[in-house]
Amino acid sequence: MYTTPLVDYHTHTTYSTDGYSSMKDMVATAAALGISQIAVTDHYDPDYPLDAWGEGFSLAEYQNEMEIVKEEFKDRITLIKGLEVGIQHGGTMDKCSQVVRGYDYDFIIGSFHCAEGFELSCGSFFKDRSVEDATAAFYKYVYDCLRDYKDYDVLGHINVIDRYGSYIPFYGDELMDIIREVLKRIIEDGKGIEINTSSFRYGMGGHTVPSQGILQLYHELGGEIVTVGSDAHAVRDVGFGMQWAYDKLRSVGFRYLTTFCQRKPSFIKL
Ligand SMILES: [Zn+2]
Ligand SMILES: [Zn+2]
Repeated sequence: MYTTPLVDYHTHTTYSTDGYSSMKDMVATAAALGISQIAVTDHYDPDYPLDAWGEGFSLAEYQNEMEIVKEEFKDRITLIKGLEVGIQHGGTMDKCSQVVRGYDYDFIIGSFHCAEGFELSCGSFFKDRSVEDATAAFYKYVYDCLRDYKDYDVLGHINVIDRYGSYIPFYGDELMDIIREVLKRIIEDGKGIEINTSSFRYGMGGHTVPSQGILQLYHELGGEIVTVGSDAHAVRDVGFGMQWAYDKLRSVGFRYLTTFCQRKPSFIKL
């Protein structure tokens, strides 16, 4: 019987455009579920191609509310003050860095919701090329950006691209070689990845985030920093799949789960 405490390191509140539940409700729900740490990681996606997603709230107010809710629930659950920044090339990185450094965060998820100036979910990224070519282009884009951008702790939903193509391509040697370079970059920079259990809710079936192959490769390369998050956007999904993710990590050979406080990793035995 394992006694690893439940921690959910990826959640959204109404501070995110696509969030449905208040921060207080999210944290109260997590506490009621017996979760010991919840990272609130609302979206900050500057230069979003379709609209000003994520720029519509005051980061100062966001900090303030995290402090208030953290204090209110401190005897029941630890609120980890987080943010999910949407990385894109060029000036977007400077905006993300400024925000990350401008406030007192515990944990930063660096995510790709866009690539090459396109929003991934709207389909235009895949236009006029095969799913295989688009997928390879996505990971090359991630690699290029992470060469320059360092203001994050874990890379969010690494294979998010699998969610948006008309099918999930076969991850052969060519694709895995690019992913290997991405993972090596992450490890060399002292960063990590996350298991994001939302793949089940998005109907990706056995294609988890990360996939088994990517998670194994990360482990083989010596990667040790892994957080687990539900990516809940409403109370009903808080804590979703945590035990599954822990078992997945154990099965691949990981012995520790990572948590963060003031941007520093700690390790909990799995
Ligand atoms: Zn995301
Ligand atoms: Zn998210």
